[in-house]
Amino acid sequence: MTRVQLTDVVKRYDDVVAVEDMNLDLKDGEFITLVGPSGCGKSTTLETIAGLTKPTSGTVTIGEREVTNLPPKDRGIAMVFQNIALFPHMDVYDNISFGLRLRDFPQEEMDQRVEEAASIVQLEGMLDRMPDEMSGGQRQRVAIARAIVREPEVFLMDEPLANLDAKLRVNMRTELQRLHKQLDTTIVYVTHNQAEAMTMSDRIAVLNEGELQQIAAPLTCYNEPANSFVAGFIGSPSMNFVDATVGDGTLDAQGYSVSFETAAIEGVSSGEPVEMGIRPENIYLTTNSAEARDPGDPIQVETDVLEPMGDQIFVYLKEISAADDDGMSDIEERQGLLMSVDPATDIWEDQQVEIVLDRAWIHLFDADTGEAISHGVVSDTGIGADVEQDSAQAD
Ligand code: ADP
Repeated sequence: MTRVQLTDVVKRYDDVVAVEDMNLDLKDGEFITLVGPSGCGKSTTLETIAGLTKPTSGTVTIGEREVTNLPPKDRGIAMVFQNIALFPHMDVYDNISFGLRLRDFPQEEMDQRVEEAASIVQLEGMLDRMPDEMSGGQRQRVAIARAIVREPEVFLMDEPLANLDAKLRVNMRTELQRLHKQLDTTIVYVTHNQAEAMTMSDRIAVLNEGELQQIAAPLTCYNEPANSFVAGFIGSPSMNFVDATVGDGTLDAQGYSVSFETAAIEGVSSGEPVEMGIRPENIYLTTNSAEARDPGDPIQVETDVLEPMGDQIFVYLKEISAADDDGMSDIEERQGLLMSVDPATDIWEDQQVEIVLDRAWIHLFDADTGEAISHGVVSDTGIGADVEQDSAQAD
């Protein structure tokens, strides 16, 4: 179990800043996932921990040692990559034990370590198989076993599941969680897949354009995103974003208003533009009494296309434009909010419906910087209090 720290790490390639002023403090035995879109600096950060990349400035500490200038082999780390590089002419035993053989491990200890690692990744009985006799998932498990036998202080994994098919990826997620529980080793895991990050990690570090946006428990990032980037990146389908202006006790979007409690929001003043965020599951049909927790401010809208998913229906709503002279909303055929409803809901396309945005789950972001201003715009539903409690526990 080992703590990993990155302090003020910067990595530049000529004009490109791959990593900007990265500060990470990963606890002993933690499963941390670095997540973000392609090119945001995840691999560079991981390679800096591994020693495959030397930071332009800043320091890396693993355990009690500063390792910034140490080569990878002296850092007590093992890496698993996306491209599983097994030796095709070696069987599973030889592939797993390759690193140990290079270091002249005694046969008996080597046998014992290989057997233990094979059993952890459930490859017992397959030690004499050749790589081309195995499935992609099995080969990836060989690569993980090869890392395990080295008994590293820290596991570094760069998109190790990216080349596997969707079903196998989901299975391997569970296996990796089991592996982490069993080994109790610090794991730093890189993925661009937010679902992978959400399901496996103790904490996730969300990166964008080389900068750390938020590091927190997955549900904290989901429920209390630090800014609109994290809010939009974490969660699928993505959070809806609406431009709004702060009015007198109301958030005025185009064509509708939502009332808020001044006490629930600090730091906004009347007339200020804000970005309002709401997740699809926090928009309810007023007719769906099982869902509608917030009596809120009903909004008339027309449904667009529906996507029945089996466990829920995604309902695209047409954009609500500003009220006409006659005071009625003019509904146009442009994309508006996305809501999700219970699969038993009686709903069809081009239907007039009444919705409500659950104000306990409306997020407000600064219109310029995207920084979060508030999570929830009312305080009396009791839901916001739950969030605080949950995230305190998760941290
Ligand atoms: P990610 O893993 O999040 O996809 P990377 O860490 O690989 O992102 O890359 C971050 C940024 O640094 C990208 O803009 C990428 O093009 C740039 N970059 C990475 N490696 C190099 C390199 N060896 N030379 C020049 N630019 C690089």
